[in-house]
Amino acid sequence: MEKTITQNIHMVDLNGQYKKIEAEVNQAIQKVIDSSAFINGAPVKAFAQNLATFLDVKHVIPCANGTDALQVALMAFDLQPGDEVIVPAFTYIASVEVIALLGLTPVLVDVDPHTFNISVEAIRKAITPRTKVILPVHLFGQCADMEPIMDIAREFNLRVLEDNAQAIGAHYTFADGTVHTAGAIGDLGTTSFFPSKNLGCFGDGGAMITNHAEFAEKTRVIASHGQTKKYIHDVIGVNSRLDTLQAAILDVKLKQLGTYITARQNAAAYYDKAFGNSEHLAIPQRADNSTHVFHQYTLKLQDSSKRDQLKDYLKAQGIPSMVYYPLPIHYQNAFKHFEQYQHNEGDFPVAESLCNSVISLPIHTELTTDIQDYIIDHVKAFFS
Ligand SMILES: *Cc1c(COP(=O)(O)O)cnc(C)c1O
Repeated sequence: MEKTITQNIHMVDLNGQYKKIEAEVNQAIQKVIDSSAFINGAPVKAFAQNLATFLDVKHVIPCANGTDALQVALMAFDLQPGDEVIVPAFTYIASVEVIALLGLTPVLVDVDPHTFNISVEAIRKAITPRTKVILPVHLFGQCADMEPIMDIAREFNLRVLEDNAQAIGAHYTFADGTVHTAGAIGDLGTTSFFPSKNLGCFGDGGAMITNHAEFAEKTRVIASHGQTKKYIHDVIGVNSRLDTLQAAILDVKLKQLGTYITARQNAAAYYDKAFGNSEHLAIPQRADNSTHVFHQYTLKLQDSSKRDQLKDYLKAQGIPSMVYYPLPIHYQNAFKHFEQYQHNEGDFPVAESLCNSVISLPIHTELTTDIQDYIIDHVKAFFS
């Protein structure tokens, strides 16, 4: 009675996605090889311009990866050692790592139990005279609550850096009805073109995005060895470039991004319908003012003690799943030397509980309803 399936099921199907645009991608790659312009070739600028148009932002500054993008963006804020950056305790490590690397102090705060994004209330409580930056992460594909975050930033004269590695193409609507692109609401935003991200290349890649000319110029200079003119270096920078090959691939894939987003949203809606009435699972709750581009489809188990069993059960049926993220930042050994992270259990109760109760199901642009039916049937069977 149970459905069988012949294909392998993947968390993301990069090969299936490639096959549909194979000729165009290969041609773009070959063109770069023929030109030998491997660094800063014409496709880098072309892609940056096309992405700026797609996102409706003034500036896209490409760089080597999403982690560099965060680091370069923070460097553009002219901060002093010990300045505090408010960041969620439930995120990928990169968002916090760069803060520590620059000698700044990451101030962790808890997240909202429904959207999994940074808690606005918690931000307000964490502000001190040393606070300089709020770093919201648009987790799993939808925006943090940017309007109140921007209000707080204005009130306390803080910079806002949006980690938009997971929500490229999402939109946030302000109370006055204006619609803004994720990553272009604060002073700077960053994104990643890691292969499994919603717009992924065939290696590493990233970008800073902004509507502010000043920060566009600063990040461009910092990402290029602090160079303002050839061999003239006005600030200490880094070497962070997007390879021409990656830019050429991304420029082809960018034309599909709208379609990719729709495919992910349709897959999410299909899962929602199947799990919406479950007494065992909570489907991803949509934020009030944001669209959701479903980088991940993340369920929350009501009984967290069953989470790992469910994962093992699905694996035995050939269904991959992932836990994003199994350990909150304040439990990571790397951050234990920060005095303020001698945190006890219960300091960030929502982040801690999510780490124990979430599970992400396969979601990607090539998912068929046949595969989804197979996954859904087995998730339901586990609970029956
Ligand atoms: C992927 C990711 C990054 C880092 O991007 P890389 O390109 O892998 O360096 C940063 N923040 C978040 C939230 C991410 O998901």
